[in-house]
Amino acid sequence: MNPRIKTINGPVVIADNARKLTVREMVSVGDLKLIGEVISLEGDEATIQVYEDTSGLKVNENIMPTSRPLSVRLGPGMLGNMFDGIQRPLKKIMDENGAFIPSGIGFENLDENKQWDVKIVAKVGQKISKGDIYATIKETETIEHRLMASVDGEVVEAKEDGLYKLEDTVVKIKSGNKVVEEKLYQYWPVRKQRPVKSSMPIEKLFETGQRVLDVFFPLAKGGTVAIPGGFGTGKTMLQHQLAQYSDVDIIIYIGCGERGNEMTQVLEEFPDLIDPNTGKGLMERTILIANTSNMPVAAREASIYTGITMAEYFRDMGYDVALMADSSSRWAEALREISGRLEEIPAEEGYPAYLGSRLSQFYERAGYFKNLNGSEGSVTLIGAVSPSGGDFSEPVTENTRRCVNVFLGLDRKLAYSRHYPAINWLSSYSNYIEKIRSYYEERLGRDIIAIRNKLMNVLLEEDEVRSIMMLVGEDALSNSQKNTLDVSSLIRNGFLQQNAYNDIDKYVPLEKQVKMLDVIYNYYVKSTDAIKAGVSHKDIYNSKLINDITQMKYNIKNDELDKFLYLNSEIDNHFISIKKG
Ligand code: ADP
Ligand code: MG
Repeated sequence: MNPRIKTINGPVVIADNARKLTVREMVSVGDLKLIGEVISLEGDEATIQVYEDTSGLKVNENIMPTSRPLSVRLGPGMLGNMFDGIQRPLKKIMDENGAFIPSGIGFENLDENKQWDVKIVAKVGQKISKGDIYATIKETETIEHRLMASVDGEVVEAKEDGLYKLEDTVVKIKSGNKVVEEKLYQYWPVRKQRPVKSSMPIEKLFETGQRVLDVFFPLAKGGTVAIPGGFGTGKTMLQHQLAQYSDVDIIIYIGCGERGNEMTQVLEEFPDLIDPNTGKGLMERTILIANTSNMPVAAREASIYTGITMAEYFRDMGYDVALMADSSSRWAEALREISGRLEEIPAEEGYPAYLGSRLSQFYERAGYFKNLNGSEGSVTLIGAVSPSGGDFSEPVTENTRRCVNVFLGLDRKLAYSRHYPAINWLSSYSNYIEKIRSYYEERLGRDIIAIRNKLMNVLLEEDEVRSIMMLVGEDALSNSQKNTLDVSSLIRNGFLQQNAYNDIDKYVPLEKQVKMLDVIYNYYVKSTDAIKAGVSHKDIYNSKLINDITQMKYNIKNDELDKFLYLNSEIDNHFISIKKG
């Protein structure tokens, strides 16, 4: 007797006669053949999480095993594409059926009719190991897709270079007494980390072209990042900027549980975006995964695993990959809803007790690795968190904080005053600063961390001076305290604040960032010295000079770095003249 539906509770189905199913197996549920995953077995009953709308299911309908875990199909055709949380091709579906997603198992997640120009690398007689590259395909203008052996063995057959479809066998590998046919794709279970040879130290800056990040709170290749912030503080905008400007090879962008119109916006925007490193369209290196709030919650739960498995697959080819999840809070809400349906005992705010361990299992898949085939690759994980009311003490933000090394707290007050990116410099941190010290030194030929730390201190001092000012008023501040306010405003307005809508300012190479930092530091040193020498703040303060420094981001283009010389001499001359005066 086949397993049959006993009860249906939203995305959760209980089946009886289920002894032949296994935990984590993918199953076809009911006459509609909906996609489900067995999440637990007890006696002859199975609990199944269904990834599609269950409203058409009926009690007593059959459940069919598939004998494989919930998997993604990894192969050419993913880049430039958009999928839902269980890798159904949304772009194709929308082109063909409008917004309606047909239900049921057996959908074609990658185009099986497309012919790919395949270069066969493996040679007959060659020993080959799991992860070794047997063929390559120029998948897009910028990315070479590398097909990797699924077993250890010896190559016993290899096709000529030429045009092949996804299902064509291009290489045969004799492994033990079995012959494995390697095609243009492989399946991988989404909940299982893809193997690597070893972990490598995190020591490379993840360059973003955003000053507040690259200098003050640096991200690292293979690192973990959380971007918590209330509604409208700029989480999505920042993720888009990272997707567009980061110096990585592949971007996986997961739109998770946001409203449908926000995802439509992503879909309309992304195809027009240009990758500044190659001048080519951003979609050439991007995969979108979308689960809007009107799609089934279980697929939302799966979406981050689908995304990270794709990320690991490209990492295995030797690429640096960044995965962005917007927002992981909506993912956690899916987890909470399913947990409720399973009648599990709720912990804090109704989230299941395993919220923290699930989050850490996800973030643990980040890293910089030596791959099985000897290449190096990285997966950087960047999760937006949307605590309601911007309260960072709620469970998702708190648990995420424990998993990540960079915490970029977005601040409503800064967003209101249009200081973007609204990253609060007092509540944010990066644990990578010391780890990437030698990267800065190699890239720039000098240390910038010392200057960064000094200017960071000015920002901390500003906070103190402002509380004093509240008590005694501005006039009662000392010369030195007034100067602290000048310098901190230069750091905030001249450096940290960066305009995403300005062509010069939206993306700034590290070389220019450092020149800007030097200008502000020069002003800081000279003004501090002058105060120490007894010059009054009134004589130091010059509104034109302050304005010239604040406006340098717009007035000096990214390729006009020589002009910083003039600005520095303007500062020098100013302080020489007040000394004389
Ligand atoms: P969230 O995703 O946190 O709800 P959004 O990313 O949608 O917030 O940002 C809300 C609005 O804030 C944007 O529509 C934009 O007008 C403004 N904004 C956010 N970041 C920036 C930025 N870097 N530069 C200029 N405006 C920004
Ligand atoms: Mg958003």
